[in-house]
Amino acid sequence: MTGQTAKIASRCECGSMATRQVNQFILHEELWWDSEFSCDACGTYMCEHAGPGRAPDDVREALLAAHGPVRLQLAGPIPSLVPALKVVREVSAAPLPQARELVGELCRDGLVGTLSEMEFLKARLQLRGVHADVDRQIPRRD
Ligand SMILES: [Zn+2]
Repeated sequence: MTGQTAKIASRCECGSMATRQVNQFILHEELWWDSEFSCDACGTYMCEHAGPGRAPDDVREALLAAHGPVRLQLAGPIPSLVPALKVVREVSAAPLPQARELVGELCRDGLVGTLSEMEFLKARLQLRGVHADVDRQIPRRD
């Protein structure tokens, strides 16, 4: 199973620094994310979220910072952009003009995102006969 985890420092109600552990993964052919909060100082433990859908920006940023982005690129020219457009619209719920831009990026330099997002998109494209490759990039060290 494709999945990634990251930890985000977060302040607990008790005043101590606690940890949010966030995960993004593919489950039942959907892209899921979840978030658990735990504080060692007072023992608070909560499942904050678990479900399918696009992860919020702070979760994505933590995953990207921990693991680096990956790039998804079409394996070769495709006779029609329609299947790719359909997939991108299903996956991102983007309006058509934005979906066209995303497909344009897929054809040119590639789309960049978290590993789970790009593996998910790749699998969905594959179902419609569009082949794409995921390229792991070296995380930037700023
Ligand atoms: Zn606490």
